[in-house]
Amino acid sequence: MTMEAFTMTMPLTMTTLGMLGPVKLTTDNIDNFIKARSPGNYALGYIEGKAFIVKYIGRSDLDLNEELKSCIGHYPHFKWSYASSAKAAFDKECQNYHDFGGSEDLDNNNHPASPDGEYMICEICGL
Ligand SMILES: [Zn+2]
Repeated sequence: MTMEAFTMTMPLTMTTLGMLGPVKLTTDNIDNFIKARSPGNYALGYIEGKAFIVKYIGRSDLDLNEELKSCIGHYPHFKWSYASSAKAAFDKECQNYHDFGGSEDLDNNNHPASPDGEYMICEICGL
């Protein structure tokens, strides 16, 4: 296969979460994969064929492991990534939220909220 042919088969725009997974949303998986107490980002959804269908975008400013455990039972699968800070997690959450259609396409009822006391503004929509 030539390089040109390879390029032709790629979608024009690739929306990615920049996360690990997906794996089943269970206590065992959360404890196995997320051992550090850290801020982080996650996406909830389900696997359809080879695709991960994103239904909900979220983050934790303090403890991704604990936050994900509160989501068990609501969605079958999740993806995740650590963040270096609550601010970094907010920026990434906004990016993911807008990339995947915002509240129109996702189950998220509201735009991501700034970390407590930071008064951060979304770099994409200014909210
Ligand atoms: Zn925004």
